[in-house]
Amino acid sequence: MALVDLDRFDFLYANRVKGMKTAATRDLMATLSRPGIISLAGGFPDTKAFGEEAFKDLSDDVAQGFAQALQYGPTGGLETIKDVIVDVMEAEGVSTRQEDVFITTGGQQGLDLVAKTFLDEGDGIICEGPTYAGALNAFAAYRPRIMHVPMDRAGMIPAAARESLEKARKQGVHVKFIYTVPNFQNPAGVTLAKERRRELLELAREYDLVILEDNPYGMLRFEGESLPTLASLEQEDNGEVERVVYLGTFSKIFAPGVRLGWVHAQPGILHKINVGKQGADLCSSNLSQMMISSFFQNSDWRGYVNRLNDIYRERRNAMLDALAEFMPKDVHWTHPEGGLFVWATLPSYIDATAMLPQAIAKNVAYVPGEGFYAGDEGKNCMRLNFSFVESDKIRRGIELLAEVIRERMELRGSLERGSHSGSHASQASQAAEKSSSRKSG
Ligand code: PMP
Repeated sequence: MALVDLDRFDFLYANRVKGMKTAATRDLMATLSRPGIISLAGGFPDTKAFGEEAFKDLSDDVAQGFAQALQYGPTGGLETIKDVIVDVMEAEGVSTRQEDVFITTGGQQGLDLVAKTFLDEGDGIICEGPTYAGALNAFAAYRPRIMHVPMDRAGMIPAAARESLEKARKQGVHVKFIYTVPNFQNPAGVTLAKERRRELLELAREYDLVILEDNPYGMLRFEGESLPTLASLEQEDNGEVERVVYLGTFSKIFAPGVRLGWVHAQPGILHKINVGKQGADLCSSNLSQMMISSFFQNSDWRGYVNRLNDIYRERRNAMLDALAEFMPKDVHWTHPEGGLFVWATLPSYIDATAMLPQAIAKNVAYVPGEGFYAGDEGKNCMRLNFSFVESDKIRRGIELLAEVIRERMELRGSLERGSHSGSHASQASQAAEKSSSRKSG
């Protein structure tokens, strides 16, 4: 077979694709499906929990309206699913109407359409550091300036957000929105404290910006009390939602395979999003919308979400217990009250990207932290998923991962000891690096 020159059309590619990097998890998928690998990498819900019988019943029900299911639909979505979304948003504390919601092909399309609506090249976005890699990817096509704001246990630090906004103003960067994943953030697992939600709203008012509230995980809470969405807080203050653009999705409360999400926003913004979607995919799948409508209208969807939460809680506990048991003392991690992820921070000299092949050789995988930053931070961090793998495997996976980390730490220790004995040491260190990269395969 002739070799394809991958760079052949570089001179024709648009500038926008040059700054785009592929999400590490997407690239990893092929490797991760290898038998024997314990993957703590994906962000997969446990779709097996839905059950074959329930799926068959649902399919039978949808088959009754097969002609519509196979047809094109309105760009903004079918009426029936909008009713479902009104109910779901009600459960999240936002009272809304059909006309305020707009169907998208997953929350992911919502990110793209909002970016398409608001961003010119060079515009600023304030977001958490680290943040959802898929959002960075969606935004990158519009060539913005990403400004990461540090988080602590209570989420994005508003004072730091203010500093970034001030800096942007001085530099003449037009910040268009603050992007936040307020609940059980992907990747860090932390939740934005209630008073900070208010502070961010206040900042947005002061600087006249939009807030993009991306909330796929709000209902996946295993403990503690639910916090109000930024959209509901704005509604409480103003009587209506004005500057919060809320993204929802069925991926985590139903299933990601249906690729269905929504945007909730004021009508002017939704109009622009509608035009953007017409150019992207005309409409989302009727088949998916009808499936979801049928399930949410005829079944106990809250019961299903509770069942998922029971499964994930147990797995989260297994992960936190295993981390406490196996990890060396210089490794730190977050304690999510819900969602799908734990974020671990290793000693600063460990490069989690470079370590990954070694981990995969030991049959465990994670997502290295650097993909969750637009710049080059996060190298010594990793995202660990607990929703997809059973508890005993999670435990084993963390045990293996701890071994890999320990090996790296020991390698460093021996290099440091070696460096006190001159050039022999540097030879030794090179040999050690070589042998470690050989091991990584
Ligand atoms: N936002 C966040 C924070 C996510 O973690 C994800 C997916 N994992 C999405 C949006 C997109 O999800 P989907 O397109 O499946 O709704």
